[in-house]
Amino acid sequence: MNVTFYGAAREVTGSCHCLVSGDDHILLDCGMFQGKRKETEMKNRVFPIDPQTITNVVLSHAHIDHSGRLPLLTREGTFHGRIYCTPPTADACKYLLLDSAKIQEGDASFLNYRNAKHFLGKVKSGGAGDLTQAQVQEIRSALKSNDYEVRDEVILKLLEEQHLEIIQPLYSTQDATASLAYFEDVPFNEPMTVGRDIEATFYTAGHILGSAFTVLSRVRDGERTNVFYSGDVGRFNKPIINNPTLDFPPEHRKIDLMILESTYGDRLHEPVRDMKEKLREVVQETWERGGSVIIPAFSYGRTQELIYFLHELVLEDALPPMPIWVDSPLATKITRVFGEHLENFDQETHDIFLKKGINPFEFPQLKFVQSVQESMELNRDERPHIVIAGSGMCEGGRVLHHLRHKIHNERNTVLIVGYMGQGTFGRLLQERGEAYEKNGRKGEPPMVRFYNKEYPLRAHVGNLRGFSAHGDRNDLMRLLEDSNLEVKRIAIVHGEEDQSTAFANYLNNKGFNTVIPRRGQCLEI
Ligand SMILES: [Zn+2]
Repeated sequence: MNVTFYGAAREVTGSCHCLVSGDDHILLDCGMFQGKRKETEMKNRVFPIDPQTITNVVLSHAHIDHSGRLPLLTREGTFHGRIYCTPPTADACKYLLLDSAKIQEGDASFLNYRNAKHFLGKVKSGGAGDLTQAQVQEIRSALKSNDYEVRDEVILKLLEEQHLEIIQPLYSTQDATASLAYFEDVPFNEPMTVGRDIEATFYTAGHILGSAFTVLSRVRDGERTNVFYSGDVGRFNKPIINNPTLDFPPEHRKIDLMILESTYGDRLHEPVRDMKEKLREVVQETWERGGSVIIPAFSYGRTQELIYFLHELVLEDALPPMPIWVDSPLATKITRVFGEHLENFDQETHDIFLKKGINPFEFPQLKFVQSVQESMELNRDERPHIVIAGSGMCEGGRVLHHLRHKIHNERNTVLIVGYMGQGTFGRLLQERGEAYEKNGRKGEPPMVRFYNKEYPLRAHVGNLRGFSAHGDRNDLMRLLEDSNLEVKRIAIVHGEEDQSTAFANYLNNKGFNTVIPRRGQCLEI
């Protein structure tokens, strides 16, 4: 038996590993590489394994860096296996994969538009092509519709006629929809057959709703070999969902190889529980200034945690009477998925909400934006409110419109509740905003540029760092030391190199046997 690491090897995104035993090829996750387009483009387009050789897929959870390339696996129709995951993961993928396809299509459409515009610009200055000035003018004005929507049909026709490169989306909405037919949901703790003599069992990982550890178990000639795939490891005492599993049945305790994530292998987080009080403080201060709170947040997990804490604060009568808006069609759908999987909620959620017949994601102060029109009205609403909107790193989506209308006003607060990737607009806001706050908000406010315009960042910028969905070093160590697992060897994946290396050193000092595989490397078990 062996495992080859095709992604998330000495980096965070693109989780994809292949467990091989005899003729069986079991794919563990099939994630997308995320980050700068230039660096990830080729890594995403080239699928590392021939889909027809793959027996089945085991999917740890719905996040796109674990699931995002499934439509590429199923697109050619040569993959004949199933995609096994927990019921909430299957439900969330219905929305997340389609959303991902729409983003891919939008990106391709924008790049084609840019190339077309560039070409017409060259023609105009006498550079290339066989078009007359009048034709160029006509096509130029037809590239976008009256409401500034890019018109793909005009652009593709031009690019084709002029034999220019046409950028295809990584996959289409149709490809994403087709991949959903391969999903097979299996509840936690129930073994399933995924290969000729390989069984897999999901255990709660506590990272997001439905996220799973997987134990893959092969019994041959009376001898059992176990591989533990962590997916993403959650945190202990997070709201809503159960803690990561520590108690495994006897047959799954001796682990020959553990494939373990290490996003925060060298870091310690603030407790999540403290976030409720800090959230209350930020809201209260902003309310006293007469301003609004804008919270960029991921649709899956973070948005629902915020709703949960805000609801708790409302029940405790600790929140000012300002409306709370969720302005994200995706987050609205995902919140519904949460409402359909109460069986995965933790005891506390049952005690505070469910036993009293209260839905944690429904209360009068909370409203879900229903239309673009309503979103635009909210942009201009000067009455104090809280708005939770995507995208989480401010790279697009409705949050940018809220920022555009509120960022210049010192009464307002931009509240950061998640990781902002390097080079993202969210990171820029975070860094400039925090520097200005640190400096006592003295002098001219920093300027930030988006939508082709400079804006003064007068709004306050706050950061609740304790909200991470990934376990820190202590959480990872609890899984290794406080569980009843006996782990022979650990392959450390899903971490920037500095985190993985520091974590490996830490583990080695504690007597564990570790390896940090490179992309393409194969480990014998
Ligand atoms: Zn994840």
